[in-house]
Amino acid sequence: MADRSLVVVGAGVLGAALARHCARAGWAVTLVEAVAPGHVRSGSGDESRLIRCAHGEDEWHARSARRSWTLWHEIDPALVVASGLLWLAHRDDGWEAASERTLTTLGIPSERVAPGDFFPSFAGDDVAWALLEPEAGILRARDATRVLAEQAAGAGATLVPARARPDGAAVVLDDGRRLEADRVVWACGAWMAALFGDLVGLKITQQDVFYFGADATWRTPSVPGWVDYDGATYGLGDLDGRGVKMCPDREGPSFEPEHGRRTPLEAHEQVARDELARRFPALAGAPLVGTRTCQYEMTADGEFLIAPHPDHDERVWLVGGGSGHAFNHGPALAERLERWMTGDEPPDPRFALGVRAASRALRTAGSGLR
Ligand SMILES: Cc1cc2nc3c(=O)[nH]c(=O)nc-3n(C[C@H](O)[C@H](O)[C@H](O)COP(=O)(O)OP(=O)(O)OC[C@H]3O[C@@H](n4cnc5c(N)ncnc54)[C@H](O)[C@@H]3O)c2cc1C
Repeated sequence: MADRSLVVVGAGVLGAALARHCARAGWAVTLVEAVAPGHVRSGSGDESRLIRCAHGEDEWHARSARRSWTLWHEIDPALVVASGLLWLAHRDDGWEAASERTLTTLGIPSERVAPGDFFPSFAGDDVAWALLEPEAGILRARDATRVLAEQAAGAGATLVPARARPDGAAVVLDDGRRLEADRVVWACGAWMAALFGDLVGLKITQQDVFYFGADATWRTPSVPGWVDYDGATYGLGDLDGRGVKMCPDREGPSFEPEHGRRTPLEAHEQVARDELARRFPALAGAPLVGTRTCQYEMTADGEFLIAPHPDHDERVWLVGGGSGHAFNHGPALAERLERWMTGDEPPDPRFALGVRAASRALRTAGSGLR
């Protein structure tokens, strides 16, 4: 019989990965979810997410992403699309060069390549050079979130469909039931802002994703995932017939995740169309075949928020602040968080509550030269 109990609220990638890991490690786990794992309003609800080890100079995140890449393969290799990830660099000694140095130090493969070799049509007059991470790529994100929750259940976790609210160190469900456990983790994505307010200090922004129709030469995995860090755009080819994905990545206006209207902003669509035509000329005028309106839940510095609630003596933990990269780290973070919750390791102070200095160093696309 399990001698440690855990309630996780929220079955996005962070909560579901933790529930899975702890159930397999012998905890008695209850996973509470208001809608469904990977549902359309959750941050984890899109078809695809990029997985990359490059994080500029930051070794911690490069190692964590590398560990997650291995773990995603163990969780279910069908979730992983090993297309490689291509970074389009505008400067000789910018974020990509820092990433290259870090990856080399850590023994993570990367190589300088000619970006035009990877796309049926490519215009790169503004691109100084490109860095390929051959052992990185795409994750079928929504499916992955469902699989994590299913594997948690398969390892003995109880999945409870309900909305929850905190009451002291306990969890109260909308039917009035009260759950108590040795540890309670709130992993509620963008909803953390309404549940815990100033304590978490998250900024929730509207981010629109666009899919354009293209022929079979644009299919991923032969077309890799790509990021233009300084240009604040990213995308991939046509994965599973969904269309070529093109995303502007500047922060959008503030967004309310429960009731916000999930239609893309015209200004965001125009940026996506302009960037598509400019970067991939053969796709100028390609039909828009789908959109998705998601939200970022941003911390000021792009670091996760993983910390004990100050009022509950390390029994209650707040986990979130995905800041555009929770799939990169979710399974590896679950391993660490278990050790932090048991006291086997001290929590990393970089994820603590409190005021943080603004930084974009960890973002996939942040500075926006254009
Ligand atoms: C456009 C876009 C592109 C992105 N690209 C990438 C990428 O390329 N790579 C990457 O790694 N990451 C990427 N991300 C970020 C990543 O998708 C998110 O960081 C991640 O999905 C957040 O997961 P989460 O578990 O914290 O939250 P969520 O997935 O939002 O899950 C939270 C869950 O909690 C539930 N919940 C909330 N409140 C309650 C309550 N009171 N009771 C019960 N349940 C509750 C919700 O229903 C939801 O299911 C991107 C995000 C966006 C928006």
